[in-house]
Amino acid sequence: MTLVRDDLAALPSYVPGRSLPGTIKLASNEVPYGPLPGVVEAITAAASNSHRYPDLGTVALRDALAARYGVDPGRIVTGCGSVALAEHLAKATCVERGDEIMYSWRSFEAYPIIVAVAGATALRVPNLADHGHDLPAMAAAVTPRTRMVLICNPNNPTGTSLRRAELDAFVDAVPETTLVVIDEAYREFVTDPEVPDALERYADRPNVVVLRTLSKAWGLAGARVGFLVAQPGVADAVRKVLTPFSTSTLAQAAALAALAAADEVDRRVALVVAERDRLLPALRKLVPDVPDSQSNFFWLPLGDRSVAFGAACEERGVVVRSFPGDGVRVTVGTPAENDAFLRAAETALPPA
Ligand code: PMP
Repeated sequence: MTLVRDDLAALPSYVPGRSLPGTIKLASNEVPYGPLPGVVEAITAAASNSHRYPDLGTVALRDALAARYGVDPGRIVTGCGSVALAEHLAKATCVERGDEIMYSWRSFEAYPIIVAVAGATALRVPNLADHGHDLPAMAAAVTPRTRMVLICNPNNPTGTSLRRAELDAFVDAVPETTLVVIDEAYREFVTDPEVPDALERYADRPNVVVLRTLSKAWGLAGARVGFLVAQPGVADAVRKVLTPFSTSTLAQAAALAALAAADEVDRRVALVVAERDRLLPALRKLVPDVPDSQSNFFWLPLGDRSVAFGAACEERGVVVRSFPGDGVRVTVGTPAENDAFLRAAETALPPA
């Protein structure tokens, strides 16, 4: 008998994008334009009450989210980032050894960790050759023990997106006893009308949960605020397993201020999308098979060259995220940051 679970020794830790002083960070899919107007002031004002516990039920924040997204506030749960909410969903669905959680691979690095920590069995379905989820294979792999399926749309780190018809067919095919979690961390950057908004299209299904975050387009990665929309029974179950007070007073204030600055979010998203459009052809000159991206990052499927490419960019002052043996993910930054990245990439990789 050991003090802690034996299986944790073999579990890889979550690796964040590196922040190196004096470099350009394009490694964590953040938006580069600083906190939204009003956010710093709201956090400062809320700090005077930081000796008191936060509002446990995050009522004002859920009301603001409900108004923005047109859902009942009782169906919303907020948490310490959407990654924590994904963990809570695993806790709320899996109880016995052998309970399964399915995800496509490669996808968000936190999924395998969440599954292992929940003591669940991972069902990993390989991505298609175009780097997107293989939804027919995923639907076919669901078993009576599959408690939850994680769908990442757009997918981190490959940037690929699922279209309406294929996602409709998948949601129809999964039995109602399996929870389908659609993680839309990058939804705000989607411009293709064929990529469905899961909140609008699927959130009324009994077994669908939509995950969103304020870390990306809303600029609050450091404040840690995510939310989910689920049917009331599922939302109540998540509240039961939630760590109490996990959305801090400062986080709630920051999120409310961010939501009040939605016009500025739209402006910033448009800048990111314009840069995304500019970068893609330039990147494809270096790496022809870069997939289309509906997110704020690109996937460079460099295989065995990934680590060396990441190191070469870093030497030139640009930090990207390499996934050994597989690819490199690069976040869309400001125009100047993207130019610096392109210069670094051109030096590291002569045009194909
Ligand atoms: N889902 C996906 C697909 C992500 O890429 C991320 C962040 N990298 C998250 C969830 C977690 O976001 P949060 O900061 O809200 O925990």
